[in-house]
Amino acid sequence: MSNDMHSKTISELAIGLRNGDFSSEELTRSYLDRINASQERLNAFITVTDEQAMKQAQAADQRITAGDSGILTGIPIAHKDIFCTDGVRTSCGSKMLDPFIAPYDAKVIENFQNDGAVMLGKTNMDEFAMGSSNETSFYGAVKNPWALDAVPGGSSGGSAAAVAARIAPGATGTDTGGSIRQPAALCGITGIKPTYGRVSRYGMIAYASSLDQAGPMAASAEDCAMMLQVMAGFDKRDSTSSERDVPDYSADLSKDLSGMKIGLPKEYFGEGLDGDVAKVIETAIDEYKKLGAEVVEISLPNTHMAVPTYYVVAPAECSSNLSRMDGVRFGHRCEDPKDLEDLYKRSRGEGFGTEVKRRILIGAYALSSGYYDAYYLKAQRVRNLISEDFKQAFEKVDLIMGPTTPTPAFNLGEKSDDPLAMYLADIYTIAVNLAGLPGMSLPAGFVNDRPIGLQLIGNYFEESRLLNAGYKFQQATDWHQKIPGEFA
Ligand code: GLN
Repeated sequence: MSNDMHSKTISELAIGLRNGDFSSEELTRSYLDRINASQERLNAFITVTDEQAMKQAQAADQRITAGDSGILTGIPIAHKDIFCTDGVRTSCGSKMLDPFIAPYDAKVIENFQNDGAVMLGKTNMDEFAMGSSNETSFYGAVKNPWALDAVPGGSSGGSAAAVAARIAPGATGTDTGGSIRQPAALCGITGIKPTYGRVSRYGMIAYASSLDQAGPMAASAEDCAMMLQVMAGFDKRDSTSSERDVPDYSADLSKDLSGMKIGLPKEYFGEGLDGDVAKVIETAIDEYKKLGAEVVEISLPNTHMAVPTYYVVAPAECSSNLSRMDGVRFGHRCEDPKDLEDLYKRSRGEGFGTEVKRRILIGAYALSSGYYDAYYLKAQRVRNLISEDFKQAFEKVDLIMGPTTPTPAFNLGEKSDDPLAMYLADIYTIAVNLAGLPGMSLPAGFVNDRPIGLQLIGNYFEESRLLNAGYKFQQATDWHQKIPGEFA
């Protein structure tokens, strides 16, 4: 087996496995070696499941030999530590769940297992997926493989760093307000947040249930299509799961883009957007014009309301979701509690980090009687206005494009003491979750040697269109093939 395996995409690896160029055991071993060799520098993983991975690889090799391959049979994949994994620690980046061994698999994990993919381990993340820099993890910050003094973005920072450093060919992420797209952008990889309801949330530890959605993170749109195929579909155990048929995401990848109408929201190119990032995005849009797309300016007038709306809705839902972490049923429990109240207070006080506590307090306040109408209900109304903006835009255009983030990756520690500055890192991604739409980030260039992401937003259930647009862009450019020098 050649030692440049890691520079191959999932689709290339799948062909190699099927042709017998290498086995899943060899492939898995080589990724495990790369993970272990980079763990100290990147801190991308919370748990590496070496032994289980090698067993799964063996089973995958048998399936391949028997001609019984699925899409990802034998392909090693890393999973964000927010997905419950049977018999394996599922920490959600928190001290609260550090001792928690999940007793069952999330639907997403089950889908990968049934398809024959190999789980490499569980990736680091912001505590309970709250963050935009992967600095709130109980297990320490993840480093950006492009600049070890920079953040990888959050909350799926471990997954993004793992794919960027090619220590995993693909990884799962979740996106409540940008956590797939923002770290994908800052680490120079491809990530797609599907339409709300496309991927089952069963067994995915809930942050804000009306916004959370899982999706794939990989080097290319083609790889994301393969992963999404395995992840998507109806699940009766998630009442918000869509019953729509899942299309063949790889079928339309190379469809011609001539005549495609792209809308550029003027609100995404105004104040706050770094000038050099703007140039990278403009160059990427020019590439789409060359591919035959037509570009028009549009307006999403309620964009400025997205961050404040999100920071009422998400904390409100999280304060309710996290009330189950009480030290009684699972997770961290304080020592020698005096009585039940003391048990609750100290277990939660010790188990949760600062950012999580801040959100629980904001959420509990917004939901309290007397304030519910003023905050939560009002936020839900504004949320409708934001969805309406997109609805009107999609009457005129097929896709919306803009930057994924306003700046390149910032330095570790730069925003940790300023929560409001941190919240603004998601200014272009959050509205998409409030509306429940699909969104994707593609590597589009660099500013000061740090990657920049182009964001594509589609209409409901139009993941195929996003993947098609992503694939065509990646056929014409090579940003997605760049690997940070140290990990090449
Ligand atoms: N950064 C946002 C937050 O902290 C979004 C996180 C996410 O998408 N999980 O809530």
